[in-house]
Amino acid sequence: MIYSKDLATPIEYLKGVGPVKAEALKKELKIHTFGDLLLHFPFRYVDKTKITEIADITEDSQFIQVRGKLTHLSTKGEGRGKRLVARIADQTSFVELVWFRGISYFEKFLQKGKEYLVFSKPTFFRGKPQFSHPEVEEITNPNIPLSSRLMPIYHSTEKLKAKKLDTRGLARIIQQLLQQLTALSIPEIFTEEFIGDQQLMARYDAFKNVHIPVSEKHIASARYRLKFEEFFCFQMRLLRTKNVRKKLEGIVFEELGEKFHGFYKENLGFELTNAQKRVLKEIRRDTMTGSQMNRLLQGDVGSGKTVVALMTMLMAIDNGYQACIMAPTEILAQQHYKSITEMVEGLDVKVDILTGSIKGKKRRNMLDYLELGLIDILVGTHALIEDSVKYKNLGIAIIDEQHRFGVEQRGRLWLKNTPAPHILVMTATPIPRTLAMTLYGDLDVSIIDELPPGRKPIVTLHRYDKDRLVVFGFLRQQLDKGQQAYIVYPLIEESENFDYKNLEDGYASITRAFPSPKYRVSIVHGQMHTVDKDFEMEQFVEGKTNILVATTVIEVGVNVPNASVMIIESAERFGLSQLHQLRGRVGRGADQAYCVLMTGHKITKHGKERIETMVATNDGFKIAEVDMTLRGPGDIQGLQQSGFAGLRMANIAKDQRILQRARSAATLLLDEDLELEKEEHAILKAFLQTQAEQLKLEWGRVS
Ligand code: ADP
Ligand code: MG
Repeated sequence: MIYSKDLATPIEYLKGVGPVKAEALKKELKIHTFGDLLLHFPFRYVDKTKITEIADITEDSQFIQVRGKLTHLSTKGEGRGKRLVARIADQTSFVELVWFRGISYFEKFLQKGKEYLVFSKPTFFRGKPQFSHPEVEEITNPNIPLSSRLMPIYHSTEKLKAKKLDTRGLARIIQQLLQQLTALSIPEIFTEEFIGDQQLMARYDAFKNVHIPVSEKHIASARYRLKFEEFFCFQMRLLRTKNVRKKLEGIVFEELGEKFHGFYKENLGFELTNAQKRVLKEIRRDTMTGSQMNRLLQGDVGSGKTVVALMTMLMAIDNGYQACIMAPTEILAQQHYKSITEMVEGLDVKVDILTGSIKGKKRRNMLDYLELGLIDILVGTHALIEDSVKYKNLGIAIIDEQHRFGVEQRGRLWLKNTPAPHILVMTATPIPRTLAMTLYGDLDVSIIDELPPGRKPIVTLHRYDKDRLVVFGFLRQQLDKGQQAYIVYPLIEESENFDYKNLEDGYASITRAFPSPKYRVSIVHGQMHTVDKDFEMEQFVEGKTNILVATTVIEVGVNVPNASVMIIESAERFGLSQLHQLRGRVGRGADQAYCVLMTGHKITKHGKERIETMVATNDGFKIAEVDMTLRGPGDIQGLQQSGFAGLRMANIAKDQRILQRARSAATLLLDEDLELEKEEHAILKAFLQTQAEQLKLEWGRVS
């Protein structure tokens, strides 16, 4: 938002907003200034000339308007249950309106026999529609004035509604604001030429039309303009980071030393794949140039990213630097800690782990060791980027599962050393290539597109619940061959009890079908204590149990090469990338692996497509493409968080086309004027700078 003086005015100075409302706006919607209020966009518009007949109201009805005569008005109930009930009738039927608050006001305002326009989203109570706390307007002039034909609908909250700031109340203060602002308060940030080339609505007009629309067409142009602007600024930030970075000083890893070579000769138990070698070369090249590396490593589950990460860290250590690797969950951090410790055995590399659960003296000691340089590799969770964590000389930071970390957090790692450490982000959630280019414009991309040899592609099958006995028979065969298996149940967030019951029932039937002592079953779920969870997991990892029954807590992190069967219950409830992640838990050894997707008979169309995709392919990139078309990229787990600060209206899922255009426009502009030094770009530059400050982007070197 620019950031003119007017727009920086605190919200309490707006007419109609006193200190009480201002407080509520700040608390509930983070609206502190005039500018913030302007950015509170409507999420929908209602055509006020459209009147729904009461008989046509259905459970699917959204915000609608009805028009009718008030036939009844009375209060019911006592004390807290007291409510005002009115009845409005048109020629087709009648509907009840209910108020629990503001009763005395509406009692006076509403009059029997008069005609009203009622606006609300109906709810159904005992099969009948009703409006609770609707907007009501008396019809005095039968012709509704045209200027207010399209009514913007705003998100509000219960607390705001109680302060008369429901959608209508918000509309009122926003209109008040727009009345007192002129085009000077909302200055254009693009040049006239640019506006013409891109065919954009002027900035001021866009804001005005979004909130006080003249027509549907105006709304469309206004929204296009605002989305374009958001994407453009977002791309400028990314592209400028990339460009500026080229000149950013980086640590030089002069040579490969005894640890790297020692690991390669003595500890690495297999031949690297060509893809792994290629990526290592790319990293080697980056770390010798004297510029900071910012690289994204994409590789499907099981493609062997960990060993690449480790060898990269050894490059740093050989050159006298420290390394850290950050994982999204404690379980995954533990797993990395364990496997890295094993892999560097005998190499005199000191590995330690820092997570949120490590506290007190232990933590303090460790932080001291770290600062003294007594730890070579620090494994951990988010805890690694906290301010209290100081390194002696951090040479490289590795982030596993990037989609859960944003640009900002990456930025904070930059600050852990001067010059900034090299950064390698790794992700197994493949993002379609086209999207990756636009999203990670600030990163160079490496891809491991090859699985270690000897892996047989996982065979994926779809089976219905009624065939469970056959599936269990198959599972028994596999277990009797000495293999292990996972059985996964979906996690239903809204109802933990049901979820738990689901899992418990499953567990019971599995222990019946696979009785002890011949078979042993572990169980892991989200409500368990870490100690118990770890114990059960440990049992499975060590091969002491044959089956691990779990909710999706095993999604990331578990690596048990001997497990060859993955059975996913109610598979239709999982998203594609989740299914793919889960499937990736098997097929890590030399044996043929199977993934069985269990579903009921009725599956939704999308559910079916997901299952079919899983059966058809093991290719994570293809799956990601399908996932994107089914859900839109915005829903792909965590994508919205990964550095999208500043996107208020634009949606990377739905607005791909605008994103592409904004990106090419940003590229062109930077080619022409990288530092935005030209006179005509001064406003844009100031705007971007203020925005960067506002978004608190801590990658400070970006001007
Ligand atoms: P991911 O990319 O999913 O993180 P991992 O790094 O966990 O994959 O590797 C999966 C398994 O493959 C590990 O057991 C690892 O030791 C093994 N692995 C990695 N690279 C190779 C290779 N080149 N040859 C054989 N096995 C490998
Ligand atoms: Mg991994």
